[in-house]
Amino acid sequence: MKYAIISDIHSNLEALQAVLKKVDSIGVDQILCPGDIVGYGANPNECIDIIRDRASVILCGNHDHAAVGSTKIEFFNPHAKEAILWTQEVLRPDCAEFLKSLPYTASVDGAFFVHSSPCEPEKWNYILQPADALNEFKCFEGDICFVGHSHFALVFVKEGDSCERALPSSFQLKKDRRYIVNVGSVGQPRDHSPAASFATLEISKEIVQFHRVDYDCHLACEKILKAGLPSFLAERLLVGE
Ligand code: ZN
Repeated sequence: MKYAIISDIHSNLEALQAVLKKVDSIGVDQILCPGDIVGYGANPNECIDIIRDRASVILCGNHDHAAVGSTKIEFFNPHAKEAILWTQEVLRPDCAEFLKSLPYTASVDGAFFVHSSPCEPEKWNYILQPADALNEFKCFEGDICFVGHSHFALVFVKEGDSCERALPSSFQLKKDRRYIVNVGSVGQPRDHSPAASFATLEISKEIVQFHRVDYDCHLACEKILKAGLPSFLAERLLVGE
């Protein structure tokens, strides 16, 4: 089985379409989405329709919950908050119901999936440093966990009692190691590259591979501005920050 893990789409239709084109060209058996379909971008309903149609496992992210009032937005930054309020206005009722129905975690083929962190999925903690990751390894079974949330593609590798942060590149799973893989963001990468990010997991070969896909970020920017959303949300797409 080969899985594509696509996360943090954030209502960016252009990035999602480009990623799916790449996914289809690679050929995968299933698409898994660890959350944040909406927020920031201009096409929430369209992105939900596509993900609902294409992904076999879909989890909730903090922006998905915020868009339907299930998570408070007082801790969101002003731009994110404005985008959530806009999303609440334009979200179709069936899309809102769909977002409310999404689970926090899933296990597929021995791999664990969560939007933010395995230990407290509903608290939306970030796993940024090896010290954060070490604790999270206690909260899932199996050897590999896939997350999104920070919009930084990276890998935490645990061997014995130590944990290291590695840059995203293809790697083979090793028996004596455990992994937390952040697949990066489709619709709002923040790791200094504007290209959409996702990962694939090939079970039989035990290989994880990262992918970057160029897309029409200028069109996504135009739509954000046209929707009256903060210009900062458009500009950051061009630089991936
Ligand atoms: Zn996100």
